[in-house]
Amino acid sequence: MDLSKKAMQIVSILDKTYPDAPATYLNYKSPFEMLIVTILSARATDAGVNKISPTLFKKYPTPEKLAKVNLDEIGQIIRPLGAYNKKAGYITGTSRLLVEKFDGKVPNTLKELISFPGVSRKTANVVLSVVFGISEGIVLDTHVMRVTLRLGLSEHENKPEKIEKDMMELLPNKFWSDYARLIGAHGRQTCKSRRPNCTSCTLNKLCPSAELGK
Ligand code: SF4
Repeated sequence: MDLSKKAMQIVSILDKTYPDAPATYLNYKSPFEMLIVTILSARATDAGVNKISPTLFKKYPTPEKLAKVNLDEIGQIIRPLGAYNKKAGYITGTSRLLVEKFDGKVPNTLKELISFPGVSRKTANVVLSVVFGISEGIVLDTHVMRVTLRLGLSEHENKPEKIEKDMMELLPNKFWSDYARLIGAHGRQTCKSRRPNCTSCTLNKLCPSAELGK
């Protein structure tokens, strides 16, 4: 089957399988909070970030407040996430830039977002898609990468930018965010890293890796 058709079919099947799949598993109340928690989620679990973020935003609810904070103080709060010195620098630096250049408001372009410290292309794509409903790329987290490869939609193992490019070519722009959201849900609930549940997977007839979980 043509790979574009297959990708569209996968989106359509998963849309029925996971009608309530959320756009993000991170908790946030504003674009500012979403930007900060997305930076903090690099190499950390969403659950871990959700645990510390209420304390963080209770103490520093605005970019103005977070921009001025002492790094040691913030390190104590975000320590459980790992790389906390680096991340403390990223979120205070991002807050400073927000205040100085963007009047405290999170911008809505990839180019502007990747100018913030600690904001990768992936981080920027998450913020754009979740906060603004804009897809300038496809959010490739570890689940989306793994499942995309297992489904045979890309062959670029360990090359996230190439996998993203493949998917952007296979799917029309309006399906990019749904693809990441639905494949993310599938990776968390069925096509798990260690034990994919291929027997009850709604994609098993389309999947070249369906023997994995048997
Ligand atoms: S058939 Fe198995 S490997 Fe393929 S998508 Fe489903 S769970 Fe993943």
